[in-house]
Amino acid sequence: LMGDYTVKKDISEMSLAFVGAGKMAQAMAKGFLAAGVVKADHITATAPSCRSQPTLEDIGCQFTHNNKEAVENSDIIFLSVKPHILPGVLQEIAPVVTKRHLMVSVAAGVPLQFLEEKLPPKSRVMRVMPNTPCVVRQGASVYVPGSHVEKEDSEIIKSLLSSLGYCSESNEGMISAVTGLAGSGPAYAFTAIDALADGGVKMGLPRELSIKLAAQTLLGASKMVLETGKHPMQLKDDVCSPGGTTIYAIHKLESGGFRNLLIDAVEGACLRAEAIA
Ligand code: NAD
Repeated sequence: LMGDYTVKKDISEMSLAFVGAGKMAQAMAKGFLAAGVVKADHITATAPSCRSQPTLEDIGCQFTHNNKEAVENSDIIFLSVKPHILPGVLQEIAPVVTKRHLMVSVAAGVPLQFLEEKLPPKSRVMRVMPNTPCVVRQGASVYVPGSHVEKEDSEIIKSLLSSLGYCSESNEGMISAVTGLAGSGPAYAFTAIDALADGGVKMGLPRELSIKLAAQTLLGASKMVLETGKHPMQLKDDVCSPGGTTIYAIHKLESGGFRNLLIDAVEGACLRAEAIA
């Protein structure tokens, strides 16, 4: 099966496949192109004929309905179908997976052991939990190496994911929690931005300005956390002057259980990721 194969070291020479050309695949592929780490004609994406996704073709990627062919012609394969579709896809592509291939699953809740069991023995398999802000190269991802990956494989995935934003190596025990926080997290932030914008509109601002101010406020706050290294609550204290407007708003948030809700949200998504495993 595994034959002689020298792992390519230069990412720009490698070909990538996305098996499942949906939202996450598109976000990652567009991010890679924006980062200039991979050329469009080195990326192949697949989807069933009935639900083809022309978007990636529009930006110069190859598109095929044939999963096996895409795997055969690629070095790194991102398994980016929905978790319940993955077992069937693994069964379909297993006969063409060799030592050449680095198999990277982004599916929530599908364990490494399951992936390794469904693919040929000693297959190089990794799990990655990315999020859709990869499309603007502000993703937050972790990767977990499987039992048979080589040191170079981790380095390749680390540099690919780093081109899409923040990334770190993790262990599988943490991946559901990462899913609940970062994988699903953009949706919490989008909802927060929309709600803040509603507040602005309620108090008389035009919708467009409200959305811009809300988004830029979250972006600015995020940058301050990342760039000052200060604890978020220190930064919060810094903007709460005694008897001022902000502490009045914080009181409203606390009365409504704002923190409790966010903790519940992360827990809910994490437990759901574990339940669909
Ligand atoms: P999606 O529904 O947008 O994409 C799934 C794609 O798979 C579609 O293009 C669909 O046509 C294609 N597909 C269906 N059956 C197929 C088959 N047999 N062979 C090849 N392609 C097939 O879903 P998504 O949101 O992109 O999620 C994909 C994976 O990414 C999931 O496993 C999810 O857990 C993971 N993920 C998603 C996010 C996110 O924010 N969307 C974040 C982290 C991880």
